[in-house]
Amino acid sequence: MKILIISDIHANLTAFQTVVDAAGEFDRVWCLGDVVGYGPQPNECVEQLRALKPLCLAGNHDWAVIEKIDLGEFNPDARQATLWTREQLTPHNLDWLHLLPERVPTELEKFTLVHGSPRYPIWEYVLGPAIARINFDYFDTPFCLMGHTHVPVVYRLKADEDLAIPEPLPETTSFQFGPERMMVNPGSVGQPRDGDPRAAYAILDTDTLTITHKRIEYNIGATQALMRDADLPARLINRLSAGW
Ligand SMILES: [Zn+2]
Repeated sequence: MKILIISDIHANLTAFQTVVDAAGEFDRVWCLGDVVGYGPQPNECVEQLRALKPLCLAGNHDWAVIEKIDLGEFNPDARQATLWTREQLTPHNLDWLHLLPERVPTELEKFTLVHGSPRYPIWEYVLGPAIARINFDYFDTPFCLMGHTHVPVVYRLKADEDLAIPEPLPETTSFQFGPERMMVNPGSVGQPRDGDPRAAYAILDTDTLTITHKRIEYNIGATQALMRDADLPARLINRLSAGW
């Protein structure tokens, strides 16, 4: 089975559509949260994703839009974008966001899916080896897929050394899971933050237990134009060009 792994779409339909078109054939979609927030097309992104019948988690931005998280936790730009998103979403799409789970068992026994971290699925950023190491104690499966930082990375648990070792997630070449336990972040579809503005996603092959990380150029200017029309914050518009 081939599974399209996506995260942090952030209402960027142009990026999302480009990823879906480029992904080729897949049997299933796993989405690691933050479907909305920041970007200009929240309804379209929710509807496009729903049509793919994904296994999808809640992210902190999804929860902020439906008032499950206090907006005081957000910086002013994120807060403004959240309030705008809340006004745009149809009741039906808001209901769908309400139903997104914090944790979800996958159809496969080997994987745990979370938005932020296994310890605190909605909010914690796994930004370095120390936090990654702690989080290996908070899930039971061999492997975990996570989003939230918008930065592609692999953490491999060295059990004898009691360390989590970071590795880059190589682009295009397939990457083998195991033999150690691993946490993998596929990067962000709609707002990459690793200095590469191209949309990020991954394809998991469950037969070979490999993941292939891909980057694809999309029409960033089209998304930025829609953000300008919606009066979304300039900083959020500009950052898409630089990938941060
Ligand atoms: Zn996000």
